[in-house]
Amino acid sequence: MPELPEVETIMSLVKRRLTNKKVIKCKVLNSKLRWPIETRKFKVLENRTIKSVKRRGKYILIEFELDKVILIIHLGMTGVISFANNHVYKRHKHDHFLLFFNDFIFVFNDIRKFGSIHITKDISNMFLIKNLGVEPLSKKFDENYLLQLSKNRLCSIKEFIMNQKIVVGIGNIYATEALFLSKIHPKMKAKYLTLSKAKSLVSNIKDVLVQAIDMGGTTIKDYVNADGKPGYFTQKLNIYQKKTCPIHKNNTVKNIKISGRSSFFCNLCQREEL
Ligand SMILES: [Zn+2]
Repeated sequence: MPELPEVETIMSLVKRRLTNKKVIKCKVLNSKLRWPIETRKFKVLENRTIKSVKRRGKYILIEFELDKVILIIHLGMTGVISFANNHVYKRHKHDHFLLFFNDFIFVFNDIRKFGSIHITKDISNMFLIKNLGVEPLSKKFDENYLLQLSKNRLCSIKEFIMNQKIVVGIGNIYATEALFLSKIHPKMKAKYLTLSKAKSLVSNIKDVLVQAIDMGGTTIKDYVNADGKPGYFTQKLNIYQKKTCPIHKNNTVKNIKISGRSSFFCNLCQREEL
């Protein structure tokens, strides 16, 4: 599943390809996604020029000139964006959505259909966007913010940092890695976070995300970047899906389920508290 670094990488590629390009035609091939694509709304994109491409959480926002029309794309679990040549494009089984440009076609393909495509003129009130927490790489995401929101929270610290209403884009892999580097047990209750732990956690979250973005995004399987290259980065992970701790080389990495997700940790580095 693409996480923030993957989405950031794809967003940059999409930005490079689409900025200042005019959409000639828009075609919905299969509207069945997490939310059905509202096909009739998409005509408005035709003959409009793309002003910019941004990321908010794990959403790719394609902004058009005039009226603040924005196309919002979420890749879900298996969404892939690719660019096809106008003349040689052949419809693939799970192609859902096409944007035709002068010299290429933007293709959204999604085998498992957990992705989504929406259009809005009012991004700040859009239901998928309006309740999103802060961006982890922004200045707003600091130890005071994290500490303030963690007060009285009974959920585990791992669930807390993966809560998109608190901070966006931290999925299972990066939560696991950042907790390991911060020496925090993934099951520790969020309310036991201290200022020094919050400081270390914030800095490690930023570090693992920036490193992954620099590497072009992590992936476990089935995932291909928009330029067709797999974004493998697993060799840089310390604890996720590892057998032994990189510090305690004889200690087997533990794997527990938290909210149904595999949570890897070293019980010597990350001692259970309270
Ligand atoms: Zn260890």
